[in-house]
Amino acid sequence: MSKNPLFSLAYKSERTQITLPNCTIGGDELVVIAGPCAIESEEQLMKSGEITSQAGAKILRGGAYKPRTSPYAFQGLEVEGLKIMKAAGEKFGMSTVCEVTSEKALYDAIEYVDIIQIGARNMQNFELLKAVGKTDKVVILKRGLSATIDEWLNASEYILSGGNMNVILCERGIRTYETATRNTLDLSAIPVIRSKSHLPIVVDPSHATGKRDYIEDLAKASVAVGADALMIEVHPNPDEALSDGPQSLDKEDFQKLMDNIRPIAEAVGRKL
Ligand code: PEP
Ligand code: MN
Repeated sequence: MSKNPLFSLAYKSERTQITLPNCTIGGDELVVIAGPCAIESEEQLMKSGEITSQAGAKILRGGAYKPRTSPYAFQGLEVEGLKIMKAAGEKFGMSTVCEVTSEKALYDAIEYVDIIQIGARNMQNFELLKAVGKTDKVVILKRGLSATIDEWLNASEYILSGGNMNVILCERGIRTYETATRNTLDLSAIPVIRSKSHLPIVVDPSHATGKRDYIEDLAKASVAVGADALMIEVHPNPDEALSDGPQSLDKEDFQKLMDNIRPIAEAVGRKL
């Protein structure tokens, strides 16, 4: 292992910027990633692309492989979902991100999406991290449910050390004793990461809170403490969502969130 880890500011003092066809993560821009928890149908994802792109989101999200707590819950449309995601990205001029839960899913997804997401439950799936490290695909690495910042940065090192420097970290809340929210958003992680690493950081207040009423406030706070991007779950009809409906915003609430974070973004020198 090199003396200075590849994720560290000691190794690389200049902040990493990830350039996608329609936006750059890690620069002056505040990038918003939005879309449903899961890709449920072509109609649902197309509607989601319309709503999110119209409000100013640059990246469309949606899971085709869903890591569900119960094996009986909706598991995702897999390759059919990836194809729908590619079509929606092209239609609305958005970059795309899908989670992969296995090496097979990774090799499928590489063909269809711009960004690969490694979810919280796979943050320490080291074989999957090594496989992603051997590609040159942009990857969003979510923080594990109970991972320390050090464990999370070491997980990123598995990808970086394979030669893939296109890593974006995502804070999505951690497990604590508190039950009022689904997880506890660790806002301190953003300045801590920024003091240790050159990698860009995304905050996902949707999975952090599990409740749509708290998402806008935490999105504002995330921008204020230095997040480079936000990931927000948006569904055309949250009450009918096959997963994470209670934390999904509808069209009106998402538009309101975008309008209300703009002044915060401007106050910290970010363009939205
Ligand atoms: C998701 O983004 O849909 C997801 C499952 O998130 P996490 O891995 O953070 O739970
Ligand atoms: Mn979700």
